[in-house]
Amino acid sequence: MHDTVTFWLSHAWLGTHVEPGVALDVADGRIAGVRTGVDAPPPGATVLRGLTLPGLANTHSHAFHRALRSTVQVGSGTFWTWRELMYQVSARLTPESYYDLARAVYAEMALAGITSVGEFHYLHHAPGGAPYSNPNAMGEALIAAADAAGIRITLLDTAYLAAGFGQGAGQYQQPDQHQLRFSDTTAEAWAERASLLKGTGHTLIGAAVHSVRAVPAGQLATVAAWAEERQAPLHVHLSEQVAENEACQAAHGCSPTRLLADHGVLGARTTGVHNTHLSAADIALLGASATGTCMCPTTERDLADGIGPAVALQRAGSPLSLGSDSHAVIDLFEEARAMELNERLRTQTRGHWTAAALLRAATVDGHAALGRPDAGTLEPGALADFTTVALDSVRTAGPAPRLAAEAAVFAASAADVRHTVVAGRHIVRDGQHALVEDVPAALASAISALHG
Ligand SMILES: [Zn+2]
Repeated sequence: MHDTVTFWLSHAWLGTHVEPGVALDVADGRIAGVRTGVDAPPPGATVLRGLTLPGLANTHSHAFHRALRSTVQVGSGTFWTWRELMYQVSARLTPESYYDLARAVYAEMALAGITSVGEFHYLHHAPGGAPYSNPNAMGEALIAAADAAGIRITLLDTAYLAAGFGQGAGQYQQPDQHQLRFSDTTAEAWAERASLLKGTGHTLIGAAVHSVRAVPAGQLATVAAWAEERQAPLHVHLSEQVAENEACQAAHGCSPTRLLADHGVLGARTTGVHNTHLSAADIALLGASATGTCMCPTTERDLADGIGPAVALQRAGSPLSLGSDSHAVIDLFEEARAMELNERLRTQTRGHWTAAALLRAATVDGHAALGRPDAGTLEPGALADFTTVALDSVRTAGPAPRLAAEAAVFAASAADVRHTVVAGRHIVRDGQHALVEDVPAALASAISALHG
C-alpha cells in the first residue's frame, strides 16, 4: 500500500484544451488518476492556482554557459568570437565549482517550470586534459547538482575529440589548449569512460557527438553503437554554422547531415541540435529517419546563427523540442514563442504553430528526446512532473481561462511560474525554491567565483 497525495488544479492543460477543476492523484512519483469536474479542492489536496502544464523539458543545456550571461553581450563579433569567451570560463571550472554553478542553474530552471534537463556535457577532464582521479568527476557533479535542485537530468556525455577538419582526406586537427579538457582522445576511450556513468531514477545517461567538426567521421559509429546498445538518446550539434557546412563539404564532399547518416548516427533516438543551415536533401534525411530537431531560438538569435527550417523539418517527420542552450535566458515560454515568431518574421505570415503545438515541443516531445517517453502529459501512468503558471500576473491577467495556453505561450515569462512538482515532490512552491534557499544569491556567488 502506497500513499496517494492529491493536487487540485484550478486549470489544467490536457494536451488539447484547458480543463477547469482537475484533481491529480499521485502515487510512487507517477500520476495515478486524473479527475475532471472537481469544482473545489478536495480535503487535504495541495492547491495549484493558475494553469498547470506538464513539466517543461529543456532539451539542450550547457550549464556553465550561464556564467557568460551579459559578459558576452558587450561588443560585437560572431559565434566564433563568443566561443573564445566561453573557453576562458570553461578553463576555470573544477568539479566543486561546477557543482555550485550547476546547482544554481538547475534551480533557476526549476523556478522556470523545467522538470527535466538534457545536459550536453563535454567538460570532462582537468585543465591540460589529464583525467581526474574519478574520470567522471565533472559529469557526476552535474548529476549531483540536478539532484540538489530537484530536477531530472539526462546527462548527454559528449564525445569531443578534435578541433576541426584538417587539410588532408580524413585528417582532423588536434584539440587546442582549451579543448584538451573536452577530449578523451578516441571514441573508444570516450565509450570506456561514459560506460562508468550510472543512471538512477532521476538520472538517465545518454550520448552526444559534439559536432562533425569534433568527432572524426571514422569514429562516429563507435558513439552511435554505444547509444544503440543502451537504447539511449544520442544528440549532436548539427549545421549551426555555415562554416561547418563548408568545412565538411571540403573534407568529405558532403553535408554534415549526410555524413552523420552515412555513419549510422541518425534515427528516432537521435536529436540534431539547431539544424539551422540545411539543404532540402538534409531535411529529407532527418525527417525520413525520424531524427529529432532541438531548436534553441534564444541562443540562435543571440549568436547570430540564423533561423532553422523547423516547419519543413517537422513536416518531413522530425519531432521538435526546445533548449535554452547557452542560457542567454532560461525561459521555455520564450523559446517556444520565439520559434513561432522567428518564422513569422521570415515568412511574413502568422500561425505556423498553435499554442498546443508549441507546448507539445516544450513538453512531451522534449521529454521523449531526453529518453523519457513517460513524461510530458497529465495522464494516468505518466511521471508526476508538472508546473503551474500564474494567470493573475500583469502579463497573463485578462484572457478568458479557455485561452490560458495562449496566454502562457505568447505572454508569460519564467517569472510567472508559481509551482514546480517533480515525481510528486513540490520543488517550487509559490515561486520559492524549496531546496535552494536563495537562487539568485547562489547564482551570484557561483558566477563571481569564476570571474575572479
Ligand atoms: Zn549547444
